[in-house]
Amino acid sequence: MTLSAGIAVPTQIKRVAEAMRAAMRATLDLALPPLCPACREPVAGQGLCPACWSKLSFIARPYCERLGIPFVYDPGPGILSMEAIADPPAYHRARAAVRFDEISRALVHALKYGDRLDLAPMMGRWICHAGRELLAEADALVAVPLHWRRLWARRFNQSAMLAAAISAESGVPVAAAALKRVKPTAQQVGLSRTERAKNVQGAFRVPQESKAAVAGRRLILVDDVLTSGATVDACARALLRAGAANVDVLIFARVAEAVRTSI
Ligand SMILES: [Zn+2]
Repeated sequence: MTLSAGIAVPTQIKRVAEAMRAAMRATLDLALPPLCPACREPVAGQGLCPACWSKLSFIARPYCERLGIPFVYDPGPGILSMEAIADPPAYHRARAAVRFDEISRALVHALKYGDRLDLAPMMGRWICHAGRELLAEADALVAVPLHWRRLWARRFNQSAMLAAAISAESGVPVAAAALKRVKPTAQQVGLSRTERAKNVQGAFRVPQESKAAVAGRRLILVDDVLTSGATVDACARALLRAGAANVDVLIFARVAEAVRTSI
């Protein structure tokens, strides 16, 4: 036996052991019921357990008709928040399914990092419910894109998964590749409002070959979480510059402290 063969044996054993472990994991995945992404308790169906479900905070009217942020009290129909008047976004209207809290964060993280792609249809249904008025007027959905380097590292874009789920539920088509992230941006986490806006400035562009799919169309941007709104604002600017007739925003979860009205 040569020296190289002697080295090869343990490597082969290691490979066989790895393959066996992978097979065991696959068998366990099939045998075990799915886990609640928030509390890790086994659940009968897919999605959240009843206890976590009851803690979810769905967003409903009264809210600012422009930003979709819930009001403390009902000011009557069509009233805008002070934020929407003082600092209007580039997009027309935004709607979110739920408030960003412990439970919705667990869902977003499970979809984004935990490969729980099975959650996307459920999350998409909730977004469709929150955005039904916007969807009724839309020509196409545009997912907030990842830079190709991050897409390569993560293998999929969670916003594109949500856009596909919304499309399946609503029938509004996805305009894939309508928008490109041309600048690799730092994570927005931990940045101030001004820093976030600066970070994503000039980060998005409509590629030449997608201009026809954008010009004159009513589009809806899709993202998983809205914090300051800087990312969707930069995306909306790029789409409007390329001639989009209207840009609305649909989000799964938004950071939402209840706001006061303009009156
Ligand atoms: Zn749970």
